[in-house]
Amino acid sequence: MDLTWTPEEDAFRLEAREWLAANAPGGLPSGDTAEGFAVHVDWERTLFDARWAAVSWPTDVGGRGASLWEWLIFEEEYYRARAPQRVTQNGIFLLAPTVFEYGNAAQQAHILPRMAGAVDLWCQGWSEPDAGSDLANVSSKATRDDERGGWVLNGQKTWTTRGAFCTHLFGLFRTDPDSARHRGLSYLLVPLDLEGVTVRGFGRLDGDEGFAEVFFDDAFLPDDAIPGGVVLGEVGAGWSVAMATTGSERGLTLRSPGRFRAVAAQLLDLQRKRPDPELRHRIARAWMRAEAYQSFTLQAVTALAAGAEAGPESSINKIWWSELDIELHGLALDLLGDDAELDGPWTRGWQFSLSGPIYAGTNEILRNIAAERLLGLPRK
Ligand SMILES: Cc1cc2nc3c(=O)[nH]c(=O)nc-3n(C[C@H](O)[C@H](O)[C@H](O)COP(=O)(O)OP(=O)(O)OC[C@H]3O[C@@H](n4cnc5c(N)ncnc54)[C@H](O)[C@@H]3O)c2cc1C
Repeated sequence: MDLTWTPEEDAFRLEAREWLAANAPGGLPSGDTAEGFAVHVDWERTLFDARWAAVSWPTDVGGRGASLWEWLIFEEEYYRARAPQRVTQNGIFLLAPTVFEYGNAAQQAHILPRMAGAVDLWCQGWSEPDAGSDLANVSSKATRDDERGGWVLNGQKTWTTRGAFCTHLFGLFRTDPDSARHRGLSYLLVPLDLEGVTVRGFGRLDGDEGFAEVFFDDAFLPDDAIPGGVVLGEVGAGWSVAMATTGSERGLTLRSPGRFRAVAAQLLDLQRKRPDPELRHRIARAWMRAEAYQSFTLQAVTALAAGAEAGPESSINKIWWSELDIELHGLALDLLGDDAELDGPWTRGWQFSLSGPIYAGTNEILRNIAAERLLGLPRK
């Protein structure tokens, strides 16, 4: 592993830094509200116009053709500049890698540029009232209707992040009515404006309306609603397609080290302003953990560049960053003491960090995966 950046990579970093310094807006309202989401979509389109929306994608689908290393550099610069949260993240960082892996040419040509340009805004429709950690318990159904050429959808999804503001949903549906558990599921691409689809936004504990429930009542999904088809991968093979998405969600793309290194740097600044001898060692330890995550990611990218695939190791990755996020923000609140309640960004960051061990697979489930699949421990 060579940890030195090439002159081209340094030039890429400089270009990103200068562009972000000149263009990244500060102080946007939360993208998890209707008003804030619209403002963030404008920002996403600005990123796209300057070809920064999805830097590692090929140029013909809206990217910059950058390497994974350059993507990491861009992420570092993005968080360093304190640029806005990415409201397109569930499309660009979760669905898109799966479209590259499983999509046909027509699907890729249609979905990816519209996603990068924030024309179509995607949300993740996996969880249901009785299917969270136990995702294989999905009961939303898609029934084949050959006469009309499409699928009839029934059921309910929940905890759909920003679902009330999105245009499309990627979801798991049971397409074989006689199947159980991991078999007979399909990964469907669903426009949310179909008749029979009701999206009901609801609030989070922090007050934002970031979640939605999505109800399907005999909603007809025509095969041609998406050029190339509405099924991603094979009919009935939805579980393995979904596992590719979880690899991105828990592994490389959803939470890059740049995010945590930027927070660790802000924490050091705070410590300099409000030195606390009691907390110094814990802050140094948290900073080192953020650096360790960077090293782990560089190792993962090196392996991916050499042709390896993201496997169950992504579980450890997600446990690491979610616990690190709580640690960094918790330390900031400790440093701020009684003033913490007055500090909006740190308090909100801490509140959101608490959800990290829940979304993208709870940390208990991920510890089970690591125990069984990486360490080879028995299930019981
Ligand atoms: C901020 C946030 C955003 C989200 N966004 C989305 C989204 O966009 N789309 C989407 O589909 N979902 C989303 N979710 C939902 C998320 O995927 C689920 O909350 C998660 O999978 C857990 O499911 P659950 O809430 O039903 O909890 P449960 O599965 O009921 O779990 C409850 C508790 O029991 C534990 N538990 C359950 N089974 C086991 C076991 N076998 N061994 C040990 N412990 C176990 C869990 O770890 C957890 O602590 C989001 C959640 C959050 C918090």
